[in-house]
Amino acid sequence: MSPNILGWQLPSLPKSRGKRVLVFAGFVLVLVVLSRCAFRGAPTAAATSEEIRVLIAAPENSIRIRAQDLRCPRIGDLGLVHAIEVRTQAKGLLVIPLREERQSDAMSEPAFVLDDGNVDITWLGPATWTTGAASNANSSRQHFGRLTVHAADDGSLRCVLHAPLELYVTGVIAAEMGTSFPPAALAAQAIAARGFALTARARRKDSQDFDVFDDERDQVYRGVDAAPSLIEAVRATTDLVLAYDGTLLRSYYASTCGGRTRDGYAFFRDVPREPFRGVVCEACSDSPLYRWSRKIERGAFTQLGCGRSGSLSFELFADDDRGDLEKVRITGPHGAVIAPASSLSRLRPLPSRWIDSIRDRGDDVEVRGRGFGHGVGLCQYGARGYARAGWSCTAILQHYFPGASITHLRDL
Ligand SMILES: [Zn+2]
Repeated sequence: MSPNILGWQLPSLPKSRGKRVLVFAGFVLVLVVLSRCAFRGAPTAAATSEEIRVLIAAPENSIRIRAQDLRCPRIGDLGLVHAIEVRTQAKGLLVIPLREERQSDAMSEPAFVLDDGNVDITWLGPATWTTGAASNANSSRQHFGRLTVHAADDGSLRCVLHAPLELYVTGVIAAEMGTSFPPAALAAQAIAARGFALTARARRKDSQDFDVFDDERDQVYRGVDAAPSLIEAVRATTDLVLAYDGTLLRSYYASTCGGRTRDGYAFFRDVPREPFRGVVCEACSDSPLYRWSRKIERGAFTQLGCGRSGSLSFELFADDDRGDLEKVRITGPHGAVIAPASSLSRLRPLPSRWIDSIRDRGDDVEVRGRGFGHGVGLCQYGARGYARAGWSCTAILQHYFPGASITHLRDL
């Protein structure tokens, strides 16, 4: 493992796997203890006590949580329970402590009814859970922190995980980039994901009971991932974010820019211009979606007001210098229609809005384009390419966010 993935001199991890596991265990323990101290209101100076509130998508009307030392402070000492099931019911919540993993409802401990529909669940170490969807594929993923469960008005459960920030970041890197990218790319992703989460938290803190969605509405989190490459990326960048002009930067990122990142201000409007001006990217050409083509059935274009017969021609209108499609004029025997780019994507989802050409091929219309995702900020495949070429994490981030600097949270 490179000792300088940031481009700075950093102490490296021990090489042996056994030592790595110990380092990870210590890393987790420190974060969990700090997180718990923060929960209890104890003063904490260390920035690693940062917590992020993650809204867990689609728990439906029940969740079963398994962990060591499970506790529900509101309903007293639960003893040696191995799992807790929480369900909605007509009056609030039903909390069922389970002493055996396979225990049936009939054999369960007395259940507790919480009429106000709110409960906090804590545990020590990792927890796993399954939700109302019994086939939940993520039941083996581990979570740290505590969970607040609330019965929503529509009868569903609303679950918010209060997770230690740095452990949450390992999960985001795993879901958004994977474990196999080079260390400098993973470190860049860690810094981007951390900053993105913290700007989301700042936006919602006065209006919502959560900071981030656990899916593409913010960034994907499916549980902590303890892969050594991810732990190293987070350890090497703990508490580091991107800042511009002394302010935390909303560090957008996307899979593949296609050769040039998009002007972020033109797309999101909520970012400063300089660090989000589009830049040339010469490192993402080995992404599977660097260039792409998609076929849309000719008949589908009747949904846009085109006639069913005759050949169509397409004139593209871009909304920025890069060539991202704003709208298209479609001309056929029955006249011309103007369709916004979003309506084209509704006929068939397209990897990006950077469209080179649209051509009528008879039975199909072929769309050719570049890149995958919105193209703003860090290009993930580009980060991989530059890291393979020897760039440091710092060099990668300074390329994609011109003028921004890597900053410790305590300095903001
Ligand atoms: Zn790129």
